[in-house]
Amino acid sequence: METVRFDQLELDERILRAVTDMGFEAASPIQAQAIPVQMEGRDVVGQAQTGTGKTAAFGIPLLQKIDPKSKKLQAIALCPTRELAIQVAEEIRRLAKYMHGIKVLPIYGGQDIVRQIRGLKDGTQIVIGTPGRVMDHMRRKTIRCDHVHTVIMDEADEMLNMGFLEDMETILSQLPEERQTVMFSATMPMEIQNIAKRFQREPVTVKVVKKELTVPKVTQYYYEVKPKTKVEVMCRLLDMYAPKLSIAFCNTKRQVDDLVQDLQGRGYFAEGLHGDLKQMQRDRVMNSFRSGATEILVATDVAARGIDVDNVEAVFNYDIPQDDEYYVHRIGRTGRAGKDGIAFSLVVGREVYKLRDIQRYCKTKIIPQAIPSLDDITTIKAEKIMEQVMDLINDTDLTKMVNIIEKKVLEEEECTSLDVAAALLKLAMGEENEDIIDCSRPARSLDDLDRYGRDGRNSRGRGSRGSRDGRGSRFGREGRYDRDGEDDMVRLFINIGKSQNIRPGDILGAVAGESGISGKMVGSIDMYDNYTFVDVPREYSDAVLRAMKDVKIKGKNVHMEKANGKGR
Ligand code: AMP
Repeated sequence: METVRFDQLELDERILRAVTDMGFEAASPIQAQAIPVQMEGRDVVGQAQTGTGKTAAFGIPLLQKIDPKSKKLQAIALCPTRELAIQVAEEIRRLAKYMHGIKVLPIYGGQDIVRQIRGLKDGTQIVIGTPGRVMDHMRRKTIRCDHVHTVIMDEADEMLNMGFLEDMETILSQLPEERQTVMFSATMPMEIQNIAKRFQREPVTVKVVKKELTVPKVTQYYYEVKPKTKVEVMCRLLDMYAPKLSIAFCNTKRQVDDLVQDLQGRGYFAEGLHGDLKQMQRDRVMNSFRSGATEILVATDVAARGIDVDNVEAVFNYDIPQDDEYYVHRIGRTGRAGKDGIAFSLVVGREVYKLRDIQRYCKTKIIPQAIPSLDDITTIKAEKIMEQVMDLINDTDLTKMVNIIEKKVLEEEECTSLDVAAALLKLAMGEENEDIIDCSRPARSLDDLDRYGRDGRNSRGRGSRGSRDGRGSRFGREGRYDRDGEDDMVRLFINIGKSQNIRPGDILGAVAGESGISGKMVGSIDMYDNYTFVDVPREYSDAVLRAMKDVKIKGKNVHMEKANGKGR
């Protein structure tokens, strides 16, 4: 995919400066197409959805046209919700940071109308509003449209779903004929096509043409996270999976710098790669990554292009990519040269819909995962240390150490050698923190989102409220996996048990660690001398069996299969 830089788009220098401040590395695919057409003054139908950079795709050409000296209303953007109106207004204000005298006002139902009227009187050139409230102001003549030269409909299909069709038509029919009409919509239902026909003049359709993509065979997981816990979740995944080399992708240069700082602050060997780096710095970062001294490379899509490193074990989509094609390129950085690869996507709020579309378009499977709890991490860390301990016991002479401990235990009445071992393990594991993330929220499948629209509404937007996770009764009231529902659990048999010096924690660590399911989801573990039964959620049982193929526990080859019923 060809990269279009913002400085190739003949933009006002003040907008370019703002875009640089926002950390954008290059125009997103929809921006690269939509901006030049709008700057020619053409009407546009843009097929793009949230997360593609669509706001700047219409916001930048809009700002190019606004006359800051005139205090008349010059543009109206219609949005389906108050949240979107606020977000769009904020993004346009950020883009207009260096354009003095431009006033952007979001107006929506529920907010004090007198305050809005005062704001409108204050020389607002751009109104971003929900259709009902915009109409209200037009009726009151507190919005005057004589000088409006641009109208934008953002998320037109969503406005249709919310019953705003008539309002949109009324507003459009009252605007000056000489105007530019821009419409963005993720889908193009008949009603939206009719609006385009009635109210636009020979509109140019812009959308990102989808190429046939081959999705690499990489295990793909996703986690629903809160913005504030993103770094923490990424660190937990790094601790849990311990990839030797990984690449984390961010959408902006600024985010790359922030994440590198956060990771370094937490003691990880991370370095950033983006377009602001000089060739010499770039080479240094890449050499360090290739040698393994840098374990995590944090990069933008553009900067990561052309990187050729074979043994990347994990890819993190720290930000969800703006384009499906980027997703495929990103995850293709791992799983090379016949090696296994794993990709983790962290989604915040509505980004989950972007990921669902990526899954659909790429015809791939992105599996939901519960965020690992600190307990999970502790179990796995302990497992890893205990493995090293067992190697030491098997391979080295520990007589000196045994003598020291024996002496101590004899001296101290209150302490056993087991206490000493436990304390040493705690020391080796480092500090334990309080769990700041609510890990009880069950992961929900991207396919389930289809049954439930945004914010829990059904997809038509007017139905009854469904359960947000769309899963029904399998999860208990606190959202924890209901281990009592036997039908939901499958019993697996594994040919290793107490006689082989195996403990339940070994089995738990192997099942959770290899398959990636949260330790919390594993049900009862019943150990016998030479075999063990483990209960896992039915929907993950095949994935667990696949993951447990060719796995060793404490150096022993193990075999796992579905239990034949005698185990209960
Ligand atoms: P939108 O699709 O408009 O909701 O944008 C999603 C996010 O992408 C917003 O946080 C934008 O600030 C950001 N964004 C927009 N354009 C770019 C770009 N060219 N590069 C990186 N981030 C961008």
